[in-house]
Amino acid sequence: MKTNREYVEFADRFSANNYHPLPVVLTRGKGIWVWDVEGKKYLDMLSGYSALNQGHCHPRIAGALKKQAEKLTLTSRAFHNDRMGEFLKKICDITGYEKTLPMNSGAEAVETAIKVARKWGYSKKRVAEDKAEIMVCENNFHGRTTTIVGFSSETQYRAGFGPFAPGFKMIPYNDTEALEGNINENTIGFMVEPIQGEGGVIMPSDGYLHRCSEICRKNNVLLIADEIQTGLGRTGKLFAYEYENIRPDILIVGKALSGGYYPISAIACDNYIMEVIKPGDHGSTFGGNPLASAIGIAALEVIIEEKLARHAHDLGNWFMDELRKIKSPLILEVRGKGLLIGVVLKEKARPYCERLMELGILAKETHEMVVRFAPPLIIQQKELQWALERISDVLCA
Ligand SMILES: *Cc1c(COP(=O)(O)O)cnc(C)c1O
Repeated sequence: MKTNREYVEFADRFSANNYHPLPVVLTRGKGIWVWDVEGKKYLDMLSGYSALNQGHCHPRIAGALKKQAEKLTLTSRAFHNDRMGEFLKKICDITGYEKTLPMNSGAEAVETAIKVARKWGYSKKRVAEDKAEIMVCENNFHGRTTTIVGFSSETQYRAGFGPFAPGFKMIPYNDTEALEGNINENTIGFMVEPIQGEGGVIMPSDGYLHRCSEICRKNNVLLIADEIQTGLGRTGKLFAYEYENIRPDILIVGKALSGGYYPISAIACDNYIMEVIKPGDHGSTFGGNPLASAIGIAALEVIIEEKLARHAHDLGNWFMDELRKIKSPLILEVRGKGLLIGVVLKEKARPYCERLMELGILAKETHEMVVRFAPPLIIQQKELQWALERISDVLCA
């Protein structure tokens, strides 16, 4: 096999048809660049949906992985391992929370947050058995498990997969009155994305999360921030909630927590919440394993030591300004924060993503009309300038 096409046809023979990828088969990655099987080089402007904030194959994380891979990889939580404590301390140190619970995929961490919040609701808020309610937003994306798709407003995510778990109430995003008006004595949590990434890089108004936080506090409702995509530097702060001077009760992280090496996720919160979890309540064979811990430690060190949040902030502002200068009748809006940017088009975005691919830029449409630009946070201005020229060519042609 030599060509992209041959590889695609081969994989399609064996793969479930659950994605519609761009027709490019990647075989190598380094930093912000990836190469396909025909040797063509591309700038990765999706970064594995923000799992690759540190760039492809970051040598420091690779080194940590290799070293740990030859020593000890999995103990299960039936025994302790000597790396997990250090990893969890690192998460607590950078987030300021007292406790953390490690899992693997983002969806599992969301499920973990739901379980912890519900148990807190029954044991601390004293909600009647099986009555706990969690509020979620329209247009949310929190993952793909049956419970999570059950509270999606996306018809396709749900169609054919019911019945769904009760206990969730949907309210419009960016609507604090709806939040306040729908809280009742059974409401135990409000789960929200600071920016709706998969929803099309939807930005709430300034002050929205701050107000949500006040409403939650007043009503003894846990504010659960899903920062799986917005966290770890992507939006120009370590966490997007910092823009609103708040502190969520439960924080959910994933994606860049491993720098793209391995599925690693976690929730973090203070002990008065986490203490409701007792041995046997929750777990995962791979969660907190020594290999994941070693990778996670290195991935977090890279984000902090290379000051990726600050870099995303400065470069993101500049890049968004430059995108706004592109004079194209196609562009409706450029929006985002840091290096999580959506360019909203008047037409379906897919053909433009295909044209960008031909010019050596990998970006993906989200919600049909939006092109998301979310390169690894290690990108430099001159590389973004290179991308801008091509983006401009495609959108002005
Ligand atoms: C990607 C994502 C998830 C799900 O993460 P997986 O690792 O794909 O399960 C959940 N929430 C948000 C905001 C995400 O962007």
